[in-house]
Amino acid sequence: MATYPHLLAPLDLGFTTLKNRVLMGSMHTGLEETRDWNRVAEFYAERARGGVALMVTGGIGPNPEGSVAPGAAMMVSDEDIASHSIVTQRVHEAGGKIAMQILHAGRYAFGPKCVAPSPVKSPISPFPPNELDEDGIEKQISDIVEAARKAKLAGYDGVEIMGSEGYFLNQFIVTHTNKRTDRWGGSYENRIRLPIEVVRRTREATGTDFIIIYRLSMIDLVPNGSTFDEVVQLAQEIEKAGATIINTGIGWHEARIPTIATSVPRAAFAWVTKKLMGKVSIPVITSNRINTPEVAEEVLSTGCADMVSLARPMLADAYFVAKAEAGTADQIAPCIACNQACLDHTFGGKLTSCLVNPRACHETELPIVAAGTAKKVAVVGAGPAGLSTAITAAQRGHAVTIFDKAEEVGGQLNMAKQIPGKEEFWGLVDWYRTMLDVAGVTVKLGTEATAEMLEGFDEVIIATGVLPRDPGIPGEDGPNVVSYVDVLRGKADVGKRVAVIGAGGIGFDVSEYLAHEGTSPTEDLPLWMKEWGVADPSEVRGGLAPEGPQPEPSAREITLLQRKKTKHGKGLGKTTGWIHRAALNMKDVNFVGGVNYERIDGEGLHVSFGEARENPTLIAADTVVLCAGQVSERSLADALEAKGVTVHVIGGADVAAELDAKRAIDQGTRLAAGL
Ligand code: NAP
Ligand code: SF4
Repeated sequence: MATYPHLLAPLDLGFTTLKNRVLMGSMHTGLEETRDWNRVAEFYAERARGGVALMVTGGIGPNPEGSVAPGAAMMVSDEDIASHSIVTQRVHEAGGKIAMQILHAGRYAFGPKCVAPSPVKSPISPFPPNELDEDGIEKQISDIVEAARKAKLAGYDGVEIMGSEGYFLNQFIVTHTNKRTDRWGGSYENRIRLPIEVVRRTREATGTDFIIIYRLSMIDLVPNGSTFDEVVQLAQEIEKAGATIINTGIGWHEARIPTIATSVPRAAFAWVTKKLMGKVSIPVITSNRINTPEVAEEVLSTGCADMVSLARPMLADAYFVAKAEAGTADQIAPCIACNQACLDHTFGGKLTSCLVNPRACHETELPIVAAGTAKKVAVVGAGPAGLSTAITAAQRGHAVTIFDKAEEVGGQLNMAKQIPGKEEFWGLVDWYRTMLDVAGVTVKLGTEATAEMLEGFDEVIIATGVLPRDPGIPGEDGPNVVSYVDVLRGKADVGKRVAVIGAGGIGFDVSEYLAHEGTSPTEDLPLWMKEWGVADPSEVRGGLAPEGPQPEPSAREITLLQRKKTKHGKGLGKTTGWIHRAALNMKDVNFVGGVNYERIDGEGLHVSFGEARENPTLIAADTVVLCAGQVSERSLADALEAKGVTVHVIGGADVAAELDAKRAIDQGTRLAAGL
């Protein structure tokens, strides 16, 4: 049994002790904005029961101009104190500790009243900020300090002052955004005056028995960012000003380098935090892409930090720490860093959840409780929809049998895991296999379920997934044409020049797969840093390599086509689509849109453009790969329904369009919760 001596060791802060080294990092879930404080409290209380030592709330605004967006939660009134007290009380009853993050967004605040050191508009906001004068700066400091004082009154164990990710305090620190010439700008001493002043006055206002975490940007990843000497100087001043803990921030939101997406190597930035170890005497937390107890233990045991911050993994599994303690780490639902149900929701104005755990932020709305009557349940199809149904139903006490004609569980997830940068899917499939076993599901692989086999079950769930769509292009039955399924299952020989038909998620994935050869940069940190142009901030300001991204050349000449005229990858994830586009651009993939597919022959793919089918063009290719979407595989469902059997059809078998694992898992879990 794996043990985690560093991860599970307590941390003495003098006036209080944290029971282990896991911090749940701040996440903008949108829960606080629902104003349903019972729901907010339950979200945090469940994670307190799950054993995390200290949690940080989503960012709470200290005033309207500093709040991330209109309607965002703030800590400014007695009513706010009363609301937040519900949360802190419930967390304390559950044996946890919680700090409130004070987030002043500065020029990232979405609104015309946003403020900043200088009137420099952010590339990711439509609003030019208003330059603060001396009184304006003073007001921002006192609002932040007052929010901290109120947080203490609301029963919080501490606050986290957000000083990184390109938010307000960070904007003062670097010349990228601070062009002032008064005592708040110019020299580095002047530029760090604001964060120091905020921490100093927060300590004064909250007393000695209150945790103050300062989230410090250790590698800005923007032009004119801080050097590491400056980071150390700031950290030492922040310690002197009264902070209890320093947390790591990595990259500004406007940085063009991925910092948390699934293609970022695990613990990719722990080396940055390690550089600060020994330079301050207060505990230091590291962060980003730490998603298993093994990785966390490795980070701590190699002296990269005193604590680890895990945010999204706490959505995927509230019981991360408890399972690590119990020796059942293989049962921890893994965060695959997809962003699909968390950050993509946040930026889409929707409540956060989690692809692998639809109960995240829906604890009160989606309870999984023992079934009143145990039933015999058959699930056909062991892809994400079927797996989540089977496991949840079995956990509720039903007798579940799952069938799949394949020899392995996972369905389409087994194709996803082949893509360089999507290695996390291996762990997800492993987790499903473990959970089928733990929940006591009878697994029948290599078995094509028939109507006869399904007789005698009380409930029949059809999760047979999808079939590739036949685009019906003349010549598609030629020897040089293959389906994405053949490519990703390793059954196709693909030539040097490739035309990929269809630029949806799968077309992008297949292009990525075909462009790479050798080690995936996600599994090789130096290679990944070179690919994206990340450097040591001790050597170059902000950690941006002066030579820029240096990707390995593409293994193939790839053209990625679609009929639409819109930008390629428009339908991909809100927070990750740009990474997929940038990755293919770096590999010189040729994006071609607005085409008609005329025919395929030995020379390659012939296309034309526009309604008049003009400009006939040959895309010379040795291999043409079909990635033209999918259709539902409903043959068994139709046969059963024709016999009068009532079935539940879920996942891709239900709706193939825009099929993704998020919808499939959510639908399966919800169905099983009500069986
Ligand atoms: P998709 O997203 O529906 O894309 C299908 C592509 O095929 C589109 O580019 C479409 O573009 C084209 N197409 C549709 N009908 C066609 C036809 N008759 N002839 C030729 N082209 C046709 O499907 P997918 O790429 O198979 O992905 C399925 C789902 O898996 C996605 O929706 C996504 O949820 C999930 N997924 C996501 C990711 C990701 O986000 N990174 C990765 C993999 C899978 P035109 O109509 O413009 O030609
Ligand atoms: Fe992790 Fe994806 Fe869940 Fe977000 S949605 S917490 S990234 S698994």
